[in-house]
Amino acid sequence: MSTYVYLICLDHTPPLVSEEESGQHLSDLPQIRADIADRERIVANVADDIWPADYFRVRTARFLAQHPRCRVGIRDEYGVDHPATSPPSPGPAGRKLGADQPQERS
Ligand SMILES: [Zn+2]
Repeated sequence: MSTYVYLICLDHTPPLVSEEESGQHLSDLPQIRADIADRERIVANVADDIWPADYFRVRTARFLAQHPRCRVGIRDEYGVDHPATSPPSPGPAGRKLGADQPQERS
């Protein structure tokens, strides 16, 4: 079961969804969030034509380079938005039920 995950630009109206997925599973979210958090360095690297080795991270880098100062979000192929920053460490109320679990859709 895969869930394609896309970056979105929240500073466009309506929000602009990347044409290229940044991941194929919700388990890719931590890496995508890490790249968003590291956007300044990634944008500088892309300007120098330095790209990540990973196929999906290249797409993330390309989108971030196109939206260097926009508010960026994460949306999956089902239209579900995911936080662009890492959630706080799991606590009694910090964990949404099944939020990070891939779910079978039938
Ligand atoms: Zn933008």
